[in-house]
Amino acid sequence: MTAAGESRPDGSPVVPGVAKPAGTAVSAARPAATGVSSGRPFVEMYDTTLRDGSQQVGLDLTVEDKLRVAAALDALGVDVVEGGWPGSNPKDKEFFARAGELPWRNAVLAAFGATRRPNRSADGDPDLETLLVANTPIVTLVGKAWTLHVDEALRTTREESLAMVADSVRYFVQEGRRVVFDAEHFFDGYAADRGYALECLAAAAESGADTLALCDTNGGTLPDDIVRVVRDVLGGFGSVKVGVHCHNDSACAVANSLVAVGEGATHVQGAANGYGERCGNADLFAVIAGLELKRDYKLLPPGRLGALAATAREIAELANLPFEPRQPYVGSSAFATKAGLHASAIARRPDAYSHVDPTRVGNKANVLVSELAGRSNVLVKAAELGLDLSSDPGLATEVLDEIKAAEYRGYAFEAADASFELLVRKVAGRSAGETSPTFFELEGYRVVIERTDGPAGATRGASPRTSIDRSEAIVRLVLGEQRVVAVGEGVGPVHALDQALRKALAGLYPELADIHLVDYKVRILDGRAATSAVTRVMLTSADHQGEWTTVGVSDDIVTASWEALADGISYGLLRAGAEALIPVGT
Ligand SMILES: [Zn+2]
Repeated sequence: MTAAGESRPDGSPVVPGVAKPAGTAVSAARPAATGVSSGRPFVEMYDTTLRDGSQQVGLDLTVEDKLRVAAALDALGVDVVEGGWPGSNPKDKEFFARAGELPWRNAVLAAFGATRRPNRSADGDPDLETLLVANTPIVTLVGKAWTLHVDEALRTTREESLAMVADSVRYFVQEGRRVVFDAEHFFDGYAADRGYALECLAAAAESGADTLALCDTNGGTLPDDIVRVVRDVLGGFGSVKVGVHCHNDSACAVANSLVAVGEGATHVQGAANGYGERCGNADLFAVIAGLELKRDYKLLPPGRLGALAATAREIAELANLPFEPRQPYVGSSAFATKAGLHASAIARRPDAYSHVDPTRVGNKANVLVSELAGRSNVLVKAAELGLDLSSDPGLATEVLDEIKAAEYRGYAFEAADASFELLVRKVAGRSAGETSPTFFELEGYRVVIERTDGPAGATRGASPRTSIDRSEAIVRLVLGEQRVVAVGEGVGPVHALDQALRKALAGLYPELADIHLVDYKVRILDGRAATSAVTRVMLTSADHQGEWTTVGVSDDIVTASWEALADGISYGLLRAGAEALIPVGT
């Protein structure tokens, strides 16, 4: 792949969706020289989030979403974005038709498809035709490398399967495309019949494929087997690039990708955040971070590694999936530590407690606040939020006491940064004789929950009884001199309260339009620790710049939700720089 602003060897800008005629170097790869400064070969990062990653249960991207994910991956600087399988669905077809709208700076686009059908010619094969029409510089073709699949799934002869690979690769090479050959089930195929698996690769390489991707399609291969097989394959295909495509069914997808590169593989396929069917594909972000930070590869354009965490989060948001806090390198807890015992040591020597400097990947060392926390933990956490408590030991103790008391009642601030910050600001303000900015005050609310069961008799035998859950909330707020009353309707009481609160504030705080709810979690805490069972609500809100989490606790779920909701909105307005309508000090 080329870095931003670069061009191909023929001088043409990197524009995906426009395939070059044969002979004018559709070498959609960054020149090999790019990696030489680090003394490492160029290893191509091939992203398949939009094709294989989209097989994940619960991941459903619209064409718009797909374009935005592609733009995010391109901005990060991966080498290849595989946009989808145009032959499999109209959505992917539309994606390729519109991909030219994007300002491609780094990545080159690939379209994915299968080899021609058995006992037909490549010319006139409708699926190959569709793939050709997608008009991408790279065509990735998948073919069978495991005899079991040739015999049982394809139900054709082994010779015919090899011919399908050869004909299809040749077809696209003659059209001037760069062909990546995905050898499906390669590692299982190699174990079952090494000779046939290698013949399959040879069929692709001899027909002009420029990359052979060895796929661990079932994801069950362990690293030592990957090493042995990749080593065996690498010797046999001259200048043809050899790469891997690993699935995570034995929790080894990233490890397998790394050891393959260690053996000399120069192409890695993976997906953002490890998305993919079953246990996912190799997490391309962890592969990139590992190779860049620990093996001195230069994979992304200069300075882009620092965008890794933000890109991971952005794609999770576009995919509408909760962002996994424990995700290596990029998760919010990836560099978090809970033990109060260590906090002062971490402040002195952060490198003693984390495997890499979190800022290298755009993450931060997040010290968790907990009842175990010592004073230094609170200081570090507050400093992270830009609040300096170190000059006032009395204040730090006051904040800590307040946190301990709240945690005893069931609050948890580890994941609720925003509530922690609001609490620190409140205590700090109080001790300075000030009141922190208040955006609204609650006078009261009322929630009506309505459930209507469908008529039992009317639908008997036809379809199950239908019922309607609908809630209505009335919120009464005080904003300085004003009193505002608003009614909201929603599915369930919390949704109704959110709607009413927004309605009440919408005209007063335009910043609210950018704030939305991302996640809502309820936990019932058992009565062993406290005097009675309580409900804890964790609520995550977001604006275009990031996310924050607030916590509410009560023996009543609606009250706990309101608390988290009101904190979430207040914090969002605070970070947006909204001017509080209630003056400080009133
Ligand atoms: Zn796959």
